Formats: sequence, C-alpha cells, structure tokens
Amino acid sequence: MVAAMATATQSSEQLHSYNPATGESIGSVPIFSAADVDAAVARARVAAQTWSTRSFRAREEELTAFRKALAASADEIAELLHRENGKPLLEGYVEVMMALSHIKHAAERAEKALAPHKVSSGVLANFRATISYHPLGVIGVIGPWNYPLFTPMGSIAYALAAGNAVVWKPSELTPLVALAIEKIAKKVFALPDLLQVVTGAGATGAALAKSAVDKIAFTGSAATGKRVMAAAAERLTPVLLELGGKDAMIIDDDADLEKAAEAAVYGGLTNAGQACISVERVYVKDTVHDKFVDEVIKQVRDLKVGGDDGHLGAMTSPQQVSIVKDHLDDAIAKGAKVHTGGPDAISGSYIQPTVLTNVDHRMKVMTEETFGPVIPIAKVASVDEAVKLANDSKYGLGSSVFAGKSARAIADRIRAGMTSVNSVMAFAGIPTLPFGGIGDSGFGRIHGDEGIREFTRVKSTAENVMSIPLNMMSFRQPKDATKRLKGMIKQLYGEGVVAKAGDFMRKLRG
Ligand code: NDP
Repeated sequence: MVAAMATATQSSEQLHSYNPATGESIGSVPIFSAADVDAAVARARVAAQTWSTRSFRAREEELTAFRKALAASADEIAELLHRENGKPLLEGYVEVMMALSHIKHAAERAEKALAPHKVSSGVLANFRATISYHPLGVIGVIGPWNYPLFTPMGSIAYALAAGNAVVWKPSELTPLVALAIEKIAKKVFALPDLLQVVTGAGATGAALAKSAVDKIAFTGSAATGKRVMAAAAERLTPVLLELGGKDAMIIDDDADLEKAAEAAVYGGLTNAGQACISVERVYVKDTVHDKFVDEVIKQVRDLKVGGDDGHLGAMTSPQQVSIVKDHLDDAIAKGAKVHTGGPDAISGSYIQPTVLTNVDHRMKVMTEETFGPVIPIAKVASVDEAVKLANDSKYGLGSSVFAGKSARAIADRIRAGMTSVNSVMAFAGIPTLPFGGIGDSGFGRIHGDEGIREFTRVKSTAENVMSIPLNMMSFRQPKDATKRLKGMIKQLYGEGVVAKAGDFMRKLRG
C-alpha cells in the first residue's frame, strides 16, 4: 500500500488509485477543491518570482539535481508506473528514461533557445531591434494517464527551464506517480512550491484551467481539451493542447517488410496501444499487402500479454476497454477480418493484440482514436491513395512511412505534426524535435526550442541608436518631409529599390 503523500491545505475527501491488473487499491490521495488549487497557484506565483530571477546556470544546476534524484529513484518510479498504469515494468523504465532525457535537454538548452537576438530593423535603420524571451509565471499542467510521467514532463521540464513555476494536475487514474515526483522535487528544489501537484478528478483539472495560471498545458482527449480551452478563455489564459491522434503508417512496395512489420507491431501495441502517437491504421501497397500481414501476424503471435515480463500490460481503465470493444464490434459488423485477438479475446482489463484487415473509413477503427492494442491494415492500390487516406482524418499528430528512395517525399505529403521515416515514434525520443499536432490533435509544441519558447512571452525591443532629421516617430519634421517621404516610398518600395541600408541612411539624412 502506497501512503498518500499530499502536503498542502487540501480538503479531507480522498480519491483511490487502483492497480488495473488486479483491481486492488494501491493508495489514496486528497481531492483538491477549487480553493485548494487557487492557493497552490498563489504559492507557485511566489516561487516563480524568485525562480525567474535566477540565472540559466543556476536553474540548470537545480534541474540537474532534480534529474539525478529522479534517476536514483528510477526503480520506485518504474514500479509505480507498472502498478498504477498497468504497463509492463520494462515500459515503466523506458518512460523514466525518456522523461529524464527531456529534463536534461531542457535544462541544458534553455539558455541558447531563449537567448535574446538582434533582427533587422528594416526601414527604421536607426534602430537596434531585439527579440527576447521572458518566463510567463505559473504554468498549469494537466496530464494524462497513459504516460503519467513522460508526457507531463514534456511540459514541466521545459516550463521550469524557461523560468516558470508549475502546478500539475495528474489524471485521477495515476496520481501516485505524480506525488512521488513532487516529493522528490520538494527535496531538491530550493523553492518547495516550484513544482506542486494538485490531485483530484476532472473538477480539479477544471479548477486549474479557470485559475490565475499564465498558461495551461493540457494532454488528453479532444473533447476535454475543448472544455479546458473554454474554461481558460474566461481569463484569456493561453493554452497548449496535446490531444489524441489517429496516426497512419504508409508502406510502399519497396519497403523492408520485416522492419515495417516490427515497427507496426511495436507502434500499434506498445503501452497496449494507449499512446497518442500509436500506429492506429496501416496502409500497405497491394503488391506487398499479404506478405506484410503474414509478417505482422507472425510477430504478434510471439508476444506475451500480462505478467511482469509481458510485452503488453493491462488496459489502464475499464472505459478504455469498452471503447476498444466498441470499435472492434463496429469494424467486424462492417466486414473487417480478425486475424488475432478480437472482441471475444478480451478478458477483464486485458486485450489480446488484434490484427484486422479488410478495413475502410466507414469504420470507427479507421477514423476515431481507438487507443488500444489494435492494428487495422488496409490495402491500397498506390502511394497516392495511401497519402489521401492518411490525410482523411480530423487528427494530425504523428505518422510513419516505410519505403525506399521515395520515403522522404511521401513523408512530406502527410498532413501531421510529426513523421518517422523507416521507423516509428522516433520523433518523441529526440528532445530537439518539437512535438505536437494540428486539427483535433491540438496546437502548440512541447520539446525542442519551440517547446521551451512555448512557456515564455516574446518581447520586442526597438532601441534608438542614432538621430536622423527625418524621424518618423515625431511631429517635428523638416519642411520638405512630404517630398522626401514620397521619394523614399518610390525608392524603397517602388521601381527604384534601394538595396543597401547604407544607401537608405544617406537618403534619410538628405
Ligand atoms: P481526458 O481527456 O478526460 O483526461 C485528460 C486529463 O484531463 C486528466 O488529467 C483528466 O482528469 C483531466 N480532466 C478531465 N476533465 C477535465 C476538465 N473538465 N477540465 C480540466 N481537466 C479535466 O481523458 P480520458 O481519460 O477521458 O480518455 C478518453 C480518451 O482521450 C481516450 O480514449 C483517448 O482517446 C484520449 N486520450 C488521449 C491522450 C493523449 O495522450 N493524447 C491521453 C489520454 C486520453 P481525470 O483523469 O482526473 O478525469
């Protein structure tokens, strides 16, 4: 039994966390009311005021200490991820490692990503123009249950590195992982309120979205994302939405089919398919379709479901099992062929990996986020058809392409935030690459320089470095100002374009 570790002034109401594999309660946590959330945000604001004045080097040192403390607790955290989310222990360790890589990158990169830089001052050549980046203040992070550590850390690490404090609302299904991280943060950071966790259900998340935070970074479903955005709109709080996906994989006839199958199996089934960047549908050129399907089935048959050494763990929630079953029933009713698994092979919180063929876009399994261990494979007559179908989606998060020389060109035609070429999901593990989607997959970016700047406000400074007679920011103009301006308009923007800034300055001086 994991003891509840909350420390703040929250109400006495408790929420239980369950092991999805066994159904047993593994701990209870407080439910933060709206007043509790507001109090946490107020404390975070005080911490942010100090943290934002620290040098990049000082912040990097504390974030490095945080990273090392998390690495030292990797066993405890991976075990908690395994027990609370249902994923195999190995996947728990993978998640810890990925999260640490982002903390390292964000801490080390922030100073460069946020360095003020000069830009051209254009027509106002007597000015020095500078862009600088400044912390927003307090960031509210609302995290999901599928990657309870890695996903929120993609916002938390970058927000902290940029000089903000964070209030984090984890999913009610996985609060213990978040509290374990908060406990470590409180020991390591000189400011104990720099990273606070507010536990509870949807209402606690809604309270955070309405609170006085300076930005909300949300990961979850599109439906809840819209609610979060509506709540944040009351204060015009900006939002970053990392929502679901319906990621397509395209396989051309010159692809390495064994590698493509390996990627489809991993990408479709890792974390029991509960990843926003899971491979949710596969389009294969007709000439290699049957061979590819055989290879996928062969590899799927080698997988073990359940147990500490299983490849696939328990589904995190019964609701998710129902969604997957509904998608499978719908597909079968519309003519899909089941090769492995299927709705009859669902037992409690375990779903056997399911390979489907004869699928099309009338089926939910090809158009809505299934978020389960299902690989639907469609046969296509051409790459053009594959691209058209891949782009026939309200989502646009990740994607992947397996092909020979044309792979990169195919990748460029896919309407999505990210694409892996001859691989799967790789973009999520490369901290320099921004992560995010378009359409119903949301907007804004975590990771990369964009992910650091996402948690800053951009400041533009125009600094007058030279006096000129024709100062356009003044009513005190020379008598011939109109004549000179007329000439300048022609010279600068008309036929007689003045190419060099020096020429322009001479014109201004008259
Ligand atoms: P939600 O989108 O409802 O949950 C995501 C987070 O939002 C959780 O922390 C949740 O808290 C919180 N939340 C719930 N209601 C509100 C609210 N009104 N205001 C603010 N925060 C709120 O995900 P579900 O669990 O309902 O999953 C449903 C579907 O969402 C899945 O089938 C999958 O398709 C998709 N999904 C996508 C994820 C991704 O990585 N992009 C992650 C998770 C789900 P609580 O859990 O306590 O209710």
